[in-house]
Amino acid sequence: MAEDVQARLLVHEMLHATLHQNDDELAKTLGITVPTGGDASTAISDWFKNGCRDTNQKQEETD
Ligand SMILES: [Zn+2]
Repeated sequence: MAEDVQARLLVHEMLHATLHQNDDELAKTLGITVPTGGDASTAISDWFKNGCRDTNQKQEETD
């Protein structure tokens, strides 16, 4: 669903714009665990994709 992807990106960018935080800071603010060697931007995207759940606390994927 392309619209879903775009909506998530929009929210992501809105968070940067409104909170003036970079990806690392946003991850911290949202309580997202960034995997070792992973990047915060991807972790945030995955978090949105999973209905705002931390994917690093692996649950079954229902997308
Ligand atoms: Zn970002």
